Amino acid sequence: PDVSVFDSLFGSLTDEDREKTALVDGPSGAETSYGDLAARIEAVAGALAARGIGVGDVVALHCPNSSGFVIAFHGILRAGATATTVNSLATVKDLESQLRASGAELLLTASPLLEAATTAARNVGLPDSAVIVLDGAEGHESLRDLLAAGAPAPDVSFEPAEHLAVLPYSSGTTGLPKGVMLTHRNLVANVEQARAMLGVGRDDVLLAVLPFFHIYGMTALLNLGLRERATLVTMPRFDLAEFLRLIEDHGVTYLFIAPPIGVALAKHPLVDTVDTSTVRHVLSGAAPLDEHLGRAIEARLGARMLQGYGMTEMSPVSHVTPFDRDDISPGSVGLAIPNVEFRLVDPATGEDVEVTDGVSAPGELWCRGPMVMTGYLNNPEATAETLTDDGWLKTGDVATVDADGVVHIVDRLKELIKYKGYQVAPSELESLLLEHPGIADAAVVGVLDDEGEEVPKAFVVAQPGTSTSDDEVLAFVAERVAPYKKVRVVEWVDAIPKSASGKILRKDLRAPAATA
Ligand code: ATP
Ligand code: MG
Repeated sequence: PDVSVFDSLFGSLTDEDREKTALVDGPSGAETSYGDLAARIEAVAGALAARGIGVGDVVALHCPNSSGFVIAFHGILRAGATATTVNSLATVKDLESQLRASGAELLLTASPLLEAATTAARNVGLPDSAVIVLDGAEGHESLRDLLAAGAPAPDVSFEPAEHLAVLPYSSGTTGLPKGVMLTHRNLVANVEQARAMLGVGRDDVLLAVLPFFHIYGMTALLNLGLRERATLVTMPRFDLAEFLRLIEDHGVTYLFIAPPIGVALAKHPLVDTVDTSTVRHVLSGAAPLDEHLGRAIEARLGARMLQGYGMTEMSPVSHVTPFDRDDISPGSVGLAIPNVEFRLVDPATGEDVEVTDGVSAPGELWCRGPMVMTGYLNNPEATAETLTDDGWLKTGDVATVDADGVVHIVDRLKELIKYKGYQVAPSELESLLLEHPGIADAAVVGVLDDEGEEVPKAFVVAQPGTSTSDDEVLAFVAERVAPYKKVRVVEWVDAIPKSASGKILRKDLRAPAATA
């Protein structure tokens, strides 16, 4: 059904739903019921409409996860405007360029980010009165003020296939983040498509640490969780001890994570000190998770591990391991969700890859469905390179599919290391390195050796209390992979650089490593 995001989530609340707790603010413990949440969203929409904000206007939201984020975010959409969500770790410069590119008229932020917010706002010519501080700050309006404004929610005639609901930015893993135009129809469709695969229900308690500003947290966690009438416990940032405390205190049943949190859950000693027995499912997405790590998490938590694949341009989900299919490995990204078509294309020829006995050769994953973006903001060239005329989105990721339709992501096309005509996937080597007891974290990039040949180099973080030599690391990998995949250089580092959405920032490692 073609409806707005607000109507799809809150249009059919029953009396029982209204009483249910939608949100628990992790740090304060404050609870918001579904009834109160819907009313507050409408109040914010009313206050925004009274300021002249509506269809075609953009409002920036720059705030860590909290109940206030949810109220403000859905208030913007309910007013008919477009929310451009900003990474809460963004620098002033990043924030400024997003404000400028999106043409945002208002900036909603939180007090810890106020300095960056006011500086960026002034630099793009927004008056201080356009900066609203959700949790309150001297000289600025707050969420409380918006809620108290008393203006009725506007009557908006939504055109779900046309009106942009959100303008999130891609993670910037491979280059500058791109503004992605997603309509109400895109967001509503993706929640409906993913629901059947994830099995979230009204008795579930979700731990909401993945940032809502990023599309994974926004759709799969926030909007899908609300659609199912589950309870979301919000965390403003990841901290393992706090994460575990919230699981125990709130009887969390479903975890949404990215692989860096998965590594902590599989390897950190703290995990054994808390009761995690309420957790039944763990969903990982945003970056590769291999079977070994997935199984280690399952064993440690006594929960079923699922993996999803997606990208900002697909609102984001296209593939997930179904919650009710024990026979599908968490090292795969499972099956296409309903109403998604996909192909695997040889980038050299543009033809579909060969399939032998039902198993495909690796190819670039192309997807088509109602969740695919309308394009990149102000970037027709990038849009034309990514979307075909007949609606296929070229993901830039390499995948394989087996006879049962189960898809494995190999790696990003651009990240494959080309060694003597062979292709080496960094993620395969990273997963293997993580199996070593002396390695707490790892990342692999291609570097040029003395002969100008691209070779895999491993950056590794030592597991506390252990000491492993470079030769042991090289031998550990060499014993387990084909000779052309061997790691040739090792460097020990304190931490692997990762983005807020949980991806390894290989470009940051590559810069200083280029001479290795
Ligand atoms: P940018 O496009 O700005 O360089 P990005 O592609 O990292 O950044 P996102 O849209 O957040 O921005 O991430 C999408 C990408 O994340 C996918 O293209 C894919 O490479 C990766 N990804 C997501 N889920 C998985 C998964 N389960 N396994 C492997 N890779 C994944
Ligand atoms: Mg991308």
